[in-house]
Amino acid sequence: MNEKYLTEEQILQMREEYLLPCVMKYFSKPLHIVRGEMQYVYDVDGKRYLDAFSAVVTISVGYCHPDVIKKTIEQNQKLQHITTLYLTESVVKYAKKLHKKAPPSLKRCFFTNSGTEANEMAAMLAKNYTKSQEFIALQHSFHGRTLMSMSFTGQSIWRHSLPYVFGVTQAPAAYCYRCPFKTTYPRCGCACAEYIEDIIKYNTSGRIAGFIHEPIHGFGGVIEPPKEYFKIAYDIIKKYGGINISDEVQTGFGRTGRKFFGIENWGVVPDIITMAKGMGNGIPIGGVIASDEVAEAIRGKIHFSTYGGNPVSMVQGLEVINVIERYKYQENIERLGKFLKSQFKRLMDKHPIIGDVRGFGFMLGIELVKNRKTKEPAAEELLFVMELCKDRGLFIGKGAMAGNVIRIKPPFCITKQDAEFIVNTLDETLKIAEKKYNIK
Ligand code: PMP
Repeated sequence: MNEKYLTEEQILQMREEYLLPCVMKYFSKPLHIVRGEMQYVYDVDGKRYLDAFSAVVTISVGYCHPDVIKKTIEQNQKLQHITTLYLTESVVKYAKKLHKKAPPSLKRCFFTNSGTEANEMAAMLAKNYTKSQEFIALQHSFHGRTLMSMSFTGQSIWRHSLPYVFGVTQAPAAYCYRCPFKTTYPRCGCACAEYIEDIIKYNTSGRIAGFIHEPIHGFGGVIEPPKEYFKIAYDIIKKYGGINISDEVQTGFGRTGRKFFGIENWGVVPDIITMAKGMGNGIPIGGVIASDEVAEAIRGKIHFSTYGGNPVSMVQGLEVINVIERYKYQENIERLGKFLKSQFKRLMDKHPIIGDVRGFGFMLGIELVKNRKTKEPAAEELLFVMELCKDRGLFIGKGAMAGNVIRIKPPFCITKQDAEFIVNTLDETLKIAEKKYNIK
């Protein structure tokens, strides 16, 4: 044990004493992490872990990526902060770069400190543009921690601070494995997307500001809508005067593979994209990119974020994109994402605990069930698997309301060997869990 660090017990005791008691932690004996290097982190005893959950889908190009850190240190030494009241280069260079990476109609940025604020900003833009107040969001979604974004969020565990912001109605998610209409795709004709029209007609005033959604649900358990879903949904929203907002906090910056933003995989173009997490590879940053038309609706009004557009975050953000391009990380995601998914499907053939395998790129989910017929969620079993993986040097993530979906969302820089390690470790640990919980 390295003497210069607090012990785990001291940190736990201080967390209990000085942090709000809503702060969560992973593992029965939480780990003290002191260092990160690309896809790996190290605990206080020097043990290495492959982080297949990327610090909750935030480390995109790799912990302390040397190219990124170099630029960030240089900027820290020059100018850490000044605000957008003064002219700086980094904010406009970064905004221009984002425009180049986004669908061409999306052009105008506003930068924030987090994904939550980005979603707040998008809601405000939508209200200004449409002069309407009501929103459609999705069940199983997660959009943040403010009252507006908690109101968007479609999971009761994250919606505990009544009263919500009025005027948000949740539509059923395109959760084919547990279809809300108890039917099957494609026989269903994408009924969940069509149903959005009924919701607008019967649950709202009929005039909506917008629809906010994740392309693939993150916290909600990697729910991946069918290929026609967003076309149907977006057209309905437009018909009722709303705009479409794609929350790319988890799916952006190439995480889904070939496309830079997740929604591009569905061949539709939103009016606003919100982003954070992988955007900064660990730095507190978020933002929106909107069409000219939507952006113009806020002209004449003042809005300001103290840290939004901060030179250090802008420089780090820009270098993250440069690194994604320089090292062709999207190709790596595409290739290894396919490999991982095919291997998870193979695991499904031999492990009855696996009910479903979903997602693509490095946005993958494995839903665990106690019984394939009843689909009863296997949440305790997942916690057990997480512990076993951790003991073997692998971090995996957990998602879904019931906490029964393994989330595999590694940093973009993992290698084939890392991917094989993930598969083999899951294979071994799922087998142990099936034996312990008698899952056949
Ligand atoms: N949207 C999505 C899809 C998220 O996953 C998150 C955070 N997990 C947020 C918004 C909120 O982002 P932040 O924690 O940066 O406020």
